[in-house]
Amino acid sequence: MTLAELGAKVGRAPSALSLLENGRREPKLSLIETLAGALSVPAGELLRQQPPSRRAQLEIAVEEAQRDPVYTDLGLPYLKIGARVPSDVLEHLVALYTELRRQRTRPTATPEEARLANAELRRAMRERGNYFEPIEQAAAEELDAVGYRAGALSQGTLLSIVGHHGFSVRYVQDLPRSVRSVTDLRHRQIYLKQESVGAHSPRTILLQTLGHFVLGHDTPRDFADFLRQRVEANYFAAAVLVPERTAGRYLREAKLARDLSVEDLRDVFAVSYEMAAHRFTNLATHHLGLTCHFVKNDESGVIYKAYENDGLVLPRDASGAIEGQRMCRKWAGRLVFTSADRFSPYHQYTDTPAGAFWCVSHVDPARERGFAITLGTPYEHSRWFRGRDTVTRMASRCPDGECCQRPPSTLASRWEGMAWPSARAHSHILSALPTGSFPGVDETDVYEFLDRHERD
Ligand SMILES: [Zn+2]
Repeated sequence: MTLAELGAKVGRAPSALSLLENGRREPKLSLIETLAGALSVPAGELLRQQPPSRRAQLEIAVEEAQRDPVYTDLGLPYLKIGARVPSDVLEHLVALYTELRRQRTRPTATPEEARLANAELRRAMRERGNYFEPIEQAAAEELDAVGYRAGALSQGTLLSIVGHHGFSVRYVQDLPRSVRSVTDLRHRQIYLKQESVGAHSPRTILLQTLGHFVLGHDTPRDFADFLRQRVEANYFAAAVLVPERTAGRYLREAKLARDLSVEDLRDVFAVSYEMAAHRFTNLATHHLGLTCHFVKNDESGVIYKAYENDGLVLPRDASGAIEGQRMCRKWAGRLVFTSADRFSPYHQYTDTPAGAFWCVSHVDPARERGFAITLGTPYEHSRWFRGRDTVTRMASRCPDGECCQRPPSTLASRWEGMAWPSARAHSHILSALPTGSFPGVDETDVYEFLDRHERD
């Protein structure tokens, strides 16, 4: 029966029935009854949620898919589903759409999406001088509630904070490998492993977990949301362990004495060197009027984490991502690995195209894997820091490729085309590999290695 035939039976224009058929208009109850009569079916049949056939179900699904922004973003012309469109084509469309929808909405991301989200987050942090007042306030309220006064946080104080929110802590040995903690929301029980996981001590992990609840986080909408929540929870943990009120005062006094140092902050608040250096960036601009930068890199110079608001030009790829890029060979974070005592703070002035900087780098001996943590500041601020009297001064011309990103010409002329390195896979989710003929491989290192061993 065509729309015109049905229209004639019920006394409506075919165009009006078309609107009903396509779900663009809701019919009145009286019209439903008239239509049911004309079609010789009970009125209930027209109201059933269940499509009458697989074919009808597919037609409806494709129709609905074409209204979803995920689908319209593809910019395809509207597909009118006539009787000639085979059902297996519709099956394909629905399956493809379902997968498209799933990929767009899950809270994980491709490395590309992750890097974009990360770059966006870094921009937001930079704008605020890496200082988030609402989280500082949330942390201060927690500390006030349990009567914190000064210095490092005791385990007892920490458990009071957790208990204040009705949570209790249990240490277990069989926590899934892929998580830092698991929280049973029904019994308000936080499960932890009684040992540090990578760079995170149990108390940091406990506070990060609690941070999600204190800051009112919901299930992440997408990867960017997931990333923002993680940064906020980490910030909360640091703001509790290194409280703004006491640490701010401590740092202001150290600045007056021209004796600012990350080591002292670490020792006074009993946190890791990495947390102390990162926390310094939260407080430096807001409390001390200093701009600064923070970099975490491995021995091969690959950056895992970075922040700057002092104009330092960090290596970045086309999407603006810094993680996974390799830093200049002349920077402190790389040279600390070659210094006689890599576990002592290493100080250096570096002249760069963006100006001169003073840095302190440190390889934390407590970590199984070697990471250098660098805190730096423009030359004019160095006078407030311990270690400013260093005579180590390097020149970096990066990102100019002649500085260090390309192998020196003498080495290259000997080894280009004559080396076949097999790259080690990076496990870090955010480190997209630096580009090169062999992704992830530092050719200068390879050439130097070959050169050294050729003479053996
Ligand atoms: Zn360089």
